[in-house]
Amino acid sequence: MPVTISSMDGLIIYFTDMTQEELFKKLIAHSKEYGFIFPSSEIYDGLSAVYDYGQMGVELKNNIKRYWWDAMVKLNENIVGIDSAIFMHSRIWEASGHVGAFNDPLIDNKDSKKRYRADVLIEEWLAKQDEKIEKEIAKAKKRFGDSFDEAMFIETNPRIKDIRHKKETVTSRMVQSLNDGDLEEVRNIILDCEIACPISGTRNWTEVRQFNLMFETKIGSVAEGANTIYLRPETAQGIFVNFLNVQKTGRMKIPFGIAQIGKAFRNEIVARQFIFRMREFEQMEMQFFVRPGEEMKWYEYWKKFRMSWHKALGFGDENYRFHDHDKLAHYANAAADVEYKFPFGFKEVEGIHSRTDFDLGNHQKFSGRKIQYYDPETGESYVPYVVETSIGVDRMVLQVLSASYAEEKITKEDGSTDERVVMKFPAAIAPIKAAVLPLVKKDGLPELARKIIDDLKYDHVCQYDEKDSIGKRYRRQDAIGTPFCITVDHQSLEDGMVTVRHRDTMAQERIPVADLPKMIADQVGFRPLFEKIEK
Ligand code: ATP
Repeated sequence: MPVTISSMDGLIIYFTDMTQEELFKKLIAHSKEYGFIFPSSEIYDGLSAVYDYGQMGVELKNNIKRYWWDAMVKLNENIVGIDSAIFMHSRIWEASGHVGAFNDPLIDNKDSKKRYRADVLIEEWLAKQDEKIEKEIAKAKKRFGDSFDEAMFIETNPRIKDIRHKKETVTSRMVQSLNDGDLEEVRNIILDCEIACPISGTRNWTEVRQFNLMFETKIGSVAEGANTIYLRPETAQGIFVNFLNVQKTGRMKIPFGIAQIGKAFRNEIVARQFIFRMREFEQMEMQFFVRPGEEMKWYEYWKKFRMSWHKALGFGDENYRFHDHDKLAHYANAAADVEYKFPFGFKEVEGIHSRTDFDLGNHQKFSGRKIQYYDPETGESYVPYVVETSIGVDRMVLQVLSASYAEEKITKEDGSTDERVVMKFPAAIAPIKAAVLPLVKKDGLPELARKIIDDLKYDHVCQYDEKDSIGKRYRRQDAIGTPFCITVDHQSLEDGMVTVRHRDTMAQERIPVADLPKMIADQVGFRPLFEKIEK
């Protein structure tokens, strides 16, 4: 059933209603069809969990990176950026704990031969218990109507009490066993909860094994005695090992941050859900160095800042939530994820972690170099504590794609109907900002269109399109999310005015060519987004 959303200028626009599963399938197909994302090595049948960005995807991704970089580095005087190498000394990964502890517990179902992350199976079971509770509440709400007291119901209903009790027990068993590396207990939890393989439906599980996620390679030639090195599984360590370089050369005073965007590699066991979980991906990380004891204040600060960075994009505040970690990574004393409601449910896009002095302290130990900061205000030297914000570029791209994709049915004033797929990207991150379209391919219209584009292209990525009817050209631009279509017609040659058609409302207005640069610049800048970020 289509749902009426808006009515304007004689047009009635419907959003096509579809299930989240349908949306996700369509998104993947659309991403490929319009040059956003291609499976890697496709002509060789692809490479699992590796993707390439096409001509539209790379523009979108670059804009997302710019939004992050400027919000972190440009808006915060005390944050600077670096770009460290992917290859690093292998001792770094011993110091960081990745050689010893960057493992996922995996389990195989003997019937389907499918491999799963054991912790994820348990987490999914826990999420199902929440769903059961919600169902009970919804049922009771219906039954009791206005007199329903939800809090009282949750506290007293025996079934809910039972589910909550089971959940708490399983959570604490899971946290304990993962922290202790007790893989037998992890398997026991799966058996006790009667978790079945979603494919085979059986509970015929193998033992749980640890699997290190780092890719190894060799540096130097075999003859010289090559050394094993790792492709970095996170960008953060490049920042830690440059802490002194940046602090000294930049004369940075604590608190201060170092930001970096770059590739990271993880040999993920279960790689699925399109670009959500990839083996080669990109991260945007910021490590914020603080006085020991002040980390919780900054942890809260960055949680708030980062959440409002997401919400400023306008995808709906209800689609975000925090998930505080029960099981902390080996380096953290507090951690929370920013979760976004993807078509396959609420999932992590970003992590905010209080990493204590674990990393700098360990690099000090392993390298034998003193990594300390002399605090002129307190007269003390110490190893700074770290609060980090770590977001995946590709998960962010997926967030933007899923939030922006819309299918619309349009009923025009004359009763005729039309359909379109439109990517409603926030203008600041849209791949193409404006398309310039001569109404016909002759009579001097292409020349004027070219003149307009030649001016706009100094500031914006624009497209020139003269092929097919104007309607078809609009649809093509809608499909890639171009906020403005500028049509040049015969009248334009006489009065120097063009028609600007706005993507979301499809409203059209005549404006002087001379006003185009300002009109576009006012609407595609990052400023309105930055102004929404709460500090
Ligand atoms: P998950 O629990 O989903 O595996 P994580 O907690 O291991 O993620 P972090 O190590 O905190 O992730 O990495 C920070 C961010 O990097 C994540 O929030 C996510 O956006 C991104 N990221 C991590 N692994 C991947 C991956 N395999 N593919 C794409 N993005 C990733």
